[in-house]
Amino acid sequence: MESLEQKISAAVTEAMPLAKSVFETLARDTADPAGGVTRASYGEGEQYAHGLLARTARELDLEVSADPGGNLYMTLPGRDRTAPAWFVGSHLDSVPKGGNFDGAAGVIAGVTALRAIQHAQITPARDITVMGVRAEETGSWFSGSHGGHLGSRMALGLIRPEEFEQAIRVDSGRPLGEHMRECGFDPEAVRGKPPHIDPRRVKGYLELHIEQGPVLERRGIPIGVVTSIRGSSRLPDARCLGAYNHSGGTPQELRQDAVVATAELIQAVDGKWQEVNAAGKDLVFNFGRIYTDAKIHSLAKVPGEVSFSVDIRSGEPDVVAMMREFVLRKADEIAARRNVRFELGRFGVSDPAVLDAGLRRDLHAGCHALGISTLDIASGGGHDAQEFVKAGIPAAMIFVSNDHGSHVAEEAMRLDDFELGTRLLAWRLARED
Ligand SMILES: [Zn+2]
Repeated sequence: MESLEQKISAAVTEAMPLAKSVFETLARDTADPAGGVTRASYGEGEQYAHGLLARTARELDLEVSADPGGNLYMTLPGRDRTAPAWFVGSHLDSVPKGGNFDGAAGVIAGVTALRAIQHAQITPARDITVMGVRAEETGSWFSGSHGGHLGSRMALGLIRPEEFEQAIRVDSGRPLGEHMRECGFDPEAVRGKPPHIDPRRVKGYLELHIEQGPVLERRGIPIGVVTSIRGSSRLPDARCLGAYNHSGGTPQELRQDAVVATAELIQAVDGKWQEVNAAGKDLVFNFGRIYTDAKIHSLAKVPGEVSFSVDIRSGEPDVVAMMREFVLRKADEIAARRNVRFELGRFGVSDPAVLDAGLRRDLHAGCHALGISTLDIASGGGHDAQEFVKAGIPAAMIFVSNDHGSHVAEEAMRLDDFELGTRLLAWRLARED
């Protein structure tokens, strides 16, 4: 008798032409004349992607619906329709001039897995719903005061009522609510109503996504099982204030040099990183913007002011908190010694999301059974999965190896690797438990 692994592997291979065709159609029809693809959150490209996936799902006889926020649901009915359902999803928007795979791969993998389960003539024990999530790339599309991941947070009841006015689309200058209405959805029907997704009715959430870093690609491993989604602590507008002075006439020990002081802070954080990394803990950091004022600075002036940003991320909550303390303490110490002042501002904090241990074990077991090599990996970028974790739903993520990073036109996932990820997904969904 054929094993589940054999059945699923063959059925996913049989369903791959469908995946390929959807990827190609999506790339062609959302191509940006300036390069890559553009699928604006609650804009043209995203609307198109939702329409394409809905049509594809209808052709497969899946049940298709949308919630008042415009998230798309494509369901393969299970034997027990009252049992908590599987949710599989990712987003269908992209950054401007982005790649074709970030987001869309997860939705297409879900639909392909359902097609494979149909091919294999398996009726799942419970409903499986593939979700096309709206507005995940909010860092690129929306400014103003909002909590990001707008589509999934609407579906899960995590959005604040004022975000519909306060989140402003960067290209139009108009609020989220207006863009939703233009796409045929209703902010009033979301605001203050019970969430569309009831966590008690969900067995678990699975999201396949391309890896946004180079780890899998470098190691030649097709699939990663995500351990956690890194939280961050950020100082977007930090400054170091010293005193401008003549660079020849001012003795070194009397200077209030803002560049040297900031450089020392960066060195100190790098030193701390080495310590934390050597202890086997998860940490990355970045001083992404650092500049002197071009209107005042000069070759022959001691720099009196530096503006900079800090972005610290870790999958471990205690590491993020410890690094916040470290930066504050170090800045005080350097300021006192170098006679400068740090105005760091307040840390913007997002908590790490730890993915479900049971589901991660399942995915490792699946890789073993299917002969797929894999490793544990932390996610540096944020994902809708973290909102499901916040809503109390067990969630897990499958990363697929991808070259050239993401949020760029050059992102490059091989369809062979995507097929392995989709097998793993379909295998878990087709199991009885
Ligand atoms: Zn993404």
